[in-house]
Amino acid sequence: ENKDQKFVYDFTEGNKDLKDLLGGKGANLAEMTNLGLPVPPGFTITTEACKVYLESGEEPAALRAEVSAHLDRLEQAMGKKLGQADDPLLVSVRSGAKFSMPGMMDTVLNIGLSDTSVEGLARQAGDERFAWDSYRRLIQMFGKTVLDVDGELFEEALEEAKRAKKVTVDTDLAAADLKKLVQQFKQIVSTEAGRDFPQDPREQMDLAIEAVFNSWNTDRAKLYRRQERIPHDLGTAVNVCSMVFGNLGPDSGTGVAFTRDPASGHQGVYGDYLQNAQGEDVVAGIRNTVPLADLESIDKASYDKLMQIMETLENHYKDLCDIEFTIERGQLWMLQTRVGKRTAGAAFRIATQLVDQGLIDQAEALQRVNGAQLAQLMFPRFDEKASVQQVGRGIAASPGAAVGKAVFDSYTAVKWSRSGEKVILIRRETNPDDLDGMIAAEGILTSRGGKTSHAAVVARGMGKTCVCGAEELEVDTKRRRMTVPGGQVVEEGDTVSIDGSTGKVYLGEVPVVPSPVVEYFEGRMHAGADDADELVESVHRMMAYADRRRRLRVRANADNAEDAARARRFGAQGIGLCRTEHMFLGERREYVERLILADTDAEREDALKALLPLQKQDFVELFEAMDGLPVTVRLLDPPLHEFLPDITELSVRVALAESRKEPHENELRLLQAVHRLHEQNPMLGLRGVRLGLVVPGLFPMQVRAIAEAAAERIEAKGDPRAEIMIPLVGTVQELELVRDEAEQVIAEVQAASGVELKLALGTMIELPRAALTAGQIAECAEFFSFGTNDLTQTVWGFSRDDVEASFFTAYLEKGIFGVSPFETIDRDGVGSLVKSAVEAGRATRPDLKLGVCGEHGGDPESVHFFHEVGLDYVSCSPFRIPVARLEAGRAAA
Ligand code: PEP
Ligand code: MG
Repeated sequence: ENKDQKFVYDFTEGNKDLKDLLGGKGANLAEMTNLGLPVPPGFTITTEACKVYLESGEEPAALRAEVSAHLDRLEQAMGKKLGQADDPLLVSVRSGAKFSMPGMMDTVLNIGLSDTSVEGLARQAGDERFAWDSYRRLIQMFGKTVLDVDGELFEEALEEAKRAKKVTVDTDLAAADLKKLVQQFKQIVSTEAGRDFPQDPREQMDLAIEAVFNSWNTDRAKLYRRQERIPHDLGTAVNVCSMVFGNLGPDSGTGVAFTRDPASGHQGVYGDYLQNAQGEDVVAGIRNTVPLADLESIDKASYDKLMQIMETLENHYKDLCDIEFTIERGQLWMLQTRVGKRTAGAAFRIATQLVDQGLIDQAEALQRVNGAQLAQLMFPRFDEKASVQQVGRGIAASPGAAVGKAVFDSYTAVKWSRSGEKVILIRRETNPDDLDGMIAAEGILTSRGGKTSHAAVVARGMGKTCVCGAEELEVDTKRRRMTVPGGQVVEEGDTVSIDGSTGKVYLGEVPVVPSPVVEYFEGRMHAGADDADELVESVHRMMAYADRRRRLRVRANADNAEDAARARRFGAQGIGLCRTEHMFLGERREYVERLILADTDAEREDALKALLPLQKQDFVELFEAMDGLPVTVRLLDPPLHEFLPDITELSVRVALAESRKEPHENELRLLQAVHRLHEQNPMLGLRGVRLGLVVPGLFPMQVRAIAEAAAERIEAKGDPRAEIMIPLVGTVQELELVRDEAEQVIAEVQAASGVELKLALGTMIELPRAALTAGQIAECAEFFSFGTNDLTQTVWGFSRDDVEASFFTAYLEKGIFGVSPFETIDRDGVGSLVKSAVEAGRATRPDLKLGVCGEHGGDPESVHFFHEVGLDYVSCSPFRIPVARLEAGRAAA
């Protein structure tokens, strides 16, 4: 606490850029005050004061005197004193953090009322009922938030008063009823809080301020911050504001307004108004509001003024604003404004509308949207008009709309999907054994687990629709059925629909409509066409703004021609990672098995010979799909266990055969080999370049396939731009060996085909040692591609296959990290290694090409990091390409 620190700002002293210090509400009240808008005078206690209080348990020593000085000034401006008996100044004490935390923290209105000043207020307002209603509200709010009295007790007493009078709404209670209620409320406070309701107005104010400070750390506020990833150490500001009253009769009222429709982005009159009421009545939904447009007929002068203010605010903030206002006897007052929340679609529309209005430029427009919103717009949706039976609701874990036949185990999911059925995999919860089933399914539904459960994390990673934790569904995997509330039973094979954006679960088939944004990226809908909707126009324009500005190029992780073609339609500028092990799945798996288990050179060569033409054909197709653009082919990097038969299963087979005295020589041989190759930590085992160095002929076969495919494409007048990438390199010596061998093969293919080949050779940087010796490695590599999946795994020492299912949930809950480091790059750890490797690599080889191909390449936050450290490109799965393009543009704008 420094001696000259200022802890209190008058509304005339702040501005909208001081949100860190004054909170969002305080900063915007100051901004409106300085714009000359009608804001009731007041002052803001800073977040710094709150931080001192939360850290030390005591308010800063200087605070009391500073508050007194500002209160004096406020009293002078208003011409009355806080709680003055004949004509009291009343104030509200409201929380207001940097980031909006709606309803999470405390507010107390009508501070300054007491047994004496309530009479003064009644005389001044000429309205006894109003004064006593305000007093009972104060005791109620103060009791609940400052003195921790159970709010239900007040509600019950209020209900009882209405019942006794046989009325239903608060406004039908007369002054006499409210006086009685005040007595009861005071009694409740004395009994429950063990102290009387304070009659001293300054004591009321000080206690309320302290309560607001404390409300920063309630359980619900902490939970909200964890979910919204708001830091816990920001603290809240406190706004002390002179009261204006919307409950002074029919010429008073309170409302909320938006300068545009937050759902569609359209300009117009959006909001609600409630006559003769105070703010919390609107929020609490006690009485029905009327549409804001009706205010025009209720109070034309105030309505016109409000419209004018809304225009001023939009032009000033250059964005959609939401507003809280009060009308006191025909006088309009602004109580709050802020740049308002909006749907993803509205964000895109509003950004382009504001450009058209000349309010913002293209670079600013890019800051008004983000990749997460674009991703949201790319998921298919259920047709809202369809009539269907909703049977449950879980957590919206991974967006999208999925329809399929219910299956209750992964084996069935795989089997049915192979025969062309669409299935929804329903489990109580999933575990890594369900992976095949999850891949095969259209969507995943679980009855247990939250947003970070295995099902949720894995589904999000795969971009697969997932609803988890739908607890009212009883899943019985043994009997392959699920019982829904009401007792209806869903059997295996029954059709279900799940909505991963809302968490809703339906029986039967809900029709799905594709996202118009995806239709646009796929080239099936065109911007500028008659039937193109406004949203597509906006997305089209924003993508152009981003593409014009971005420095990062965007490539795709793709290993077949179909994905490559889609990636290209989505704007990919090449392939950054073709995982060749994906070309060895399915029926080719047995060749790989033969290769790995080969005892003799002849056996091995046979297997390689069988693989060569298959590989070559893969590459020909891929180079054709990406003609003219770079294609980085990574040589084989299979964690061995993924290609070998399961050791337990095989042991059982051998044992059975033995006991039945059946021939089993082959199985036994296989089992011995599997035992020989079995690894405790396959991810740290015989993978990547290591495999290439111990299995003779493997990498040369792949290099030959690449080179021959390139030669064939050149002969066909194509323009293949292949790059050969060596995985899991830890030291430059590994790379040198592979490089020599590869160059020899390429020379052979050139000689044989007579075609000149330019094949770049580079490496992945995915081990800490590679990053630390990047300067040496760059001697031998023309490009680096950061494999941030393995790099994260090895820097943290986290098994990428296991952690999400084991302790990450606990880590996220404890706030050790706000998001999995496998999802968003860990800037401080993994990121700093990337940064230093970039510098070391470029120092050795200034024209070294640099990219990233781990999952982080398509993650919005990480894309900004890769821009900052100066990579040339990011590579990500085809569906994330538009997101990466947008974020790369935002990073550069
Ligand atoms: C990586 O490790 O980041 C990478 C892209 O390789 P893979 O995920 O195939 O291990
Ligand atoms: Mg890797």
